[in-house]
Amino acid sequence: MTTELDATAAARLRDADQRYTTSRRQIVGILAEAGRPLTIAEVQAASGGLPQSSAYRNLAVLEQAGVVRRVLATDEFARFELAEDLTEHHHHLVCTRCGSVLDFTMSSALEEALERTARTVRARTGFTVQAHRLDLTGVCADCAD
Ligand SMILES: [Zn+2]
Ligand SMILES: [Zn+2]
Repeated sequence: MTTELDATAAARLRDADQRYTTSRRQIVGILAEAGRPLTIAEVQAASGGLPQSSAYRNLAVLEQAGVVRRVLATDEFARFELAEDLTEHHHHLVCTRCGSVLDFTMSSALEEALERTARTVRARTGFTVQAHRLDLTGVCADCAD
């Protein structure tokens, strides 16, 4: 985990009147390392023994403080990743068989096309686009075998 990420996470928790405990710091580090959204079970496994209730509670606090965001996938398992402003803008590849989620960065040409679309939307409807989400759904390499 970078010092900057560490400092930003600490500041956001402080602003939310929450402590940056060892467990919370560890979870931020795990999510930073993973490079893809993780389930609670995966966070637990990487933490080496954090109880599920504690992992869940800490993720909820981190989410509320704006450090972590919940990723919607196709299965019942919530997944978590660092807030996008702490990492970089990206999209998700969602497997409709196993529910796995991978990060994917779109080409700048596509991102620019979406920016233009946002301007068109505003001109036509008055709706101000602040962000976009675009998931690609399909079958992951493991499930395709
Ligand atoms: Zn899959
Ligand atoms: Zn995008």
